[in-house]
Amino acid sequence: MIVTLSCSKLPAGQTEITKWQYGKKGAVSITYDDGSINQFLKAVPVMNRLNMPGTFFINTGSIPGSEYQGKFIGRPVKDIIKETRTIPTGRDNIYERASAARFLGYRGTSEYFTKAGAMIDAGKYEEAYKIIDDLYKKVNSGEFKPETAARRVNSRENVLTWDMIRTYASQGHEFASHMVTHPYMAALDEPNMLYELEKSREEILNKLGPEYTFSAECPYGTEDERAMEYAHRFYPALRNRMPEVFLEELNRASRKSPVSSDLEYVQWQRGATTKTPMPMMKAWIDTAAAGNNIWLVLVIHGVDGIGWEALTIESIEEYFQYMKSKENDLWVATFADAAKYMRERMNSNVKSSVNKDKITIDLTHSLDISLYNIPLTLKSYVRPGWKKVVVKQGTEVKQLSTQKEGNETYVLYQAIPNGGNIEISGV
Ligand SMILES: [Zn+2]
Repeated sequence: MIVTLSCSKLPAGQTEITKWQYGKKGAVSITYDDGSINQFLKAVPVMNRLNMPGTFFINTGSIPGSEYQGKFIGRPVKDIIKETRTIPTGRDNIYERASAARFLGYRGTSEYFTKAGAMIDAGKYEEAYKIIDDLYKKVNSGEFKPETAARRVNSRENVLTWDMIRTYASQGHEFASHMVTHPYMAALDEPNMLYELEKSREEILNKLGPEYTFSAECPYGTEDERAMEYAHRFYPALRNRMPEVFLEELNRASRKSPVSSDLEYVQWQRGATTKTPMPMMKAWIDTAAAGNNIWLVLVIHGVDGIGWEALTIESIEEYFQYMKSKENDLWVATFADAAKYMRERMNSNVKSSVNKDKITIDLTHSLDISLYNIPLTLKSYVRPGWKKVVVKQGTEVKQLSTQKEGNETYVLYQAIPNGGNIEISGV
């Protein structure tokens, strides 16, 4: 971001892009994982009433009508099973064997995948080899019952559908990928890793449109480098990791205070679980509202009895009301909008020129405008006598009141980068 000062003795024309939209002091993104039904039936109505958008990371394979379901991409599993009889699990075959583990045609094998995945994710490879060896030993000795052909049919009223998702999306909520089947990505080989990333993206693209293919969260909050490298090829923003020189990332397990960061922005993730005391949850809000560079990213799973670590609807109501009471200081934005705002601001160039009755501002960024298209908030200093101004960009014309800061007079307004010159004139 480059701010060009005018040559005038007055600061008139001097323009900056505020750190967060509408000049707020901090940002909050309310994110939900796994698409459990009460997130929508219980929490969304509260959010809609308070006019706060959320971000929902969904597993596309479990939504009725989805084209892509979980499956193994690779050679016939019987060949893999056969090979495990003579070759022990190790570095060269762990990913293929783990990827196949959920699709061997037997009941009860998925939990071995999940346990081995947790080990690989934690870098404990020897433990993972043992779990996979144990699994295939049991498969080879016939300890598992075959999977029955009949698929579990969910009762209709308790299932998230694409029609519901389209309705919530039209209300301003963001939907984003949490993969097809909620796997431990670190345990997958390349073809299966690509399948999860690509097909969940394609499903969302086909069902909702390109706007919803921006963000993703690889399950279990993984930060596995190999998984991250693949995932970054498909999604511009991952909640897991978002490497940017201007952004410090404090994950859910971090004990570090966000206040101590001296980078331009801090993404501070906090997971609200059943054990999180309400005063602590409120203190997160206070911290974000009192700073100037904190992006609080809340991670919520279950709601009102359904889903992992479900929060009661009463506590959600109380918490969101509290957040609403801090609205003057906090920008509540979807994960994508907050990420886009920061990137646009950090890659923008502002130039201004002043003549006696008009300020002209040029706001441009160097990013892909098909993705980075949200308005930025500009703060322009104007002539001290201007109580009201007209701000014009393209066909958009707005009359706004100016504000005072000591002896200086300024106006806050929304502008579209690369959207043509902005003209401010006194009324
Ligand atoms: Zn999850």
